[in-house]
Amino acid sequence: MAKKKSSLKKLEEKLSLKKESAWKGYKTTKKVMDFGDAYKTFLDASKTERDCAKSVVKQLKKSGFKDMSYLKSAKKGDKLYLNYKEKVVAALVVGRDMSRFNLVGSHMDSPRLDLKQSPLYEDSSVALFKSHYYGGIKKYQWVNLKLAMHGIAYTKQGKKVEFSYGEKADEPKFVIPDLLPHLARHQMEKNAREFIGGEDLNIVVGNIPVDDKDVKDKIKLNVLQILNKNFGITEEDFSFAEINFVPAENSVDVGFDRGMIGAYGQDDKVCVYTSLRAIIEIKNPSATAVSYFTDKEEIGSDGDTGAKSRFLLNLAEKYASLVGINNSPSNILMNSKAISADVSALVNPNFSDVHEKRNASYIGNGLIMEKYTGSGGKYSANDASAEYLSEIRKILVKENISWQTGELGKIDIGGGGTIAKFLSSYGMDTLDAGPGVIAMHSPLELTSKVDVYEAYRFYKAFFN
Ligand code: MN
Ligand code: MN
Repeated sequence: MAKKKSSLKKLEEKLSLKKESAWKGYKTTKKVMDFGDAYKTFLDASKTERDCAKSVVKQLKKSGFKDMSYLKSAKKGDKLYLNYKEKVVAALVVGRDMSRFNLVGSHMDSPRLDLKQSPLYEDSSVALFKSHYYGGIKKYQWVNLKLAMHGIAYTKQGKKVEFSYGEKADEPKFVIPDLLPHLARHQMEKNAREFIGGEDLNIVVGNIPVDDKDVKDKIKLNVLQILNKNFGITEEDFSFAEINFVPAENSVDVGFDRGMIGAYGQDDKVCVYTSLRAIIEIKNPSATAVSYFTDKEEIGSDGDTGAKSRFLLNLAEKYASLVGINNSPSNILMNSKAISADVSALVNPNFSDVHEKRNASYIGNGLIMEKYTGSGGKYSANDASAEYLSEIRKILVKENISWQTGELGKIDIGGGGTIAKFLSSYGMDTLDAGPGVIAMHSPLELTSKVDVYEAYRFYKAFFN
């Protein structure tokens, strides 16, 4: 016979904040696991922002979304999208209230290695590429790692060449070799920021020389010959190209229970995928639903494709003319509500002392609401209002979504931002909410499948 609860135990349950595993909410895990599998397939095809934009547009088209650029008008219930420079995508479902957006914004770029504009050289019997890292990485994590080449180049005649090379099992990989421990006495004395320097991130790409005593860099020439034969490009074409190196590994299940996913680029493709699925599946939303997939978050959201650009104003202008409303773009945005869908840092049990554990978030405990981001005394933060949080709470309660609060580590230790402050600058209520990640910005980031699923359920409920 079950023991009867004491009255104080009941009072504790009534008055205290509960923090428990989101897995507890699921009698069977099948739905969560199936969603995780679909997400992994998406991840493997979406490593760079260009690849990701392609995957997003492909799924939108398949689900009946129409390219806004070719439309003359739109009405309630219509599904639209806009693909801007193949690096920013917005998906819209026209809602019952057409005068404003419920917007979920995520970013498609992830930290990686870009090639410099004159990358190829030969040294010590190998050919190498000079790289320039993109975003906040711990440089030492990128050595001894199988890498693949992505991106685009144009030939002198203007022919576009697209790369996704080194991903397939039978394609070669590329690598930045680290120093052997036997000779690393001086290297090991340096601090971690310096022991692999930015200029040490040189990628090995060849070893076989051409057979001609008059040619100076014989291995380099052989690589150029292969590149020309396979892709039609010359050394000069690199100066006009955009080429990225990313981990060649595909996503994997982690743990005996398969409860987690290990993969490159989950920051922030996890929010891209969950908010994409959400907008594809909603019908008849209250206000016009917008999933906004942006670029350049990892380097400050600057430039033509970052969240600081005027893309959303341009989108709102185009939208207003399609649905035939007179509201100005800034008025539409000011009356909108937003979720900045980005990942938060989970407690890593190996380094738990960087977190203040009463306000930290834990893997598998559900969606993370981060009221504010920034650093130090909330500098550079978007700080969501209690009024807005209370609206969000209604969604969480109604849909029974597992949630936790989060904050990026102990106050004085570091910090970080998202696109939240750029969204809220239009005047829209904005809250950071998304799943958490362990080992963020590393070549293998860790998420819990149940956190991914709760984020998806939340974005969908937010749209409805
Ligand atoms: Mn992010
Ligand atoms: Mn990031």
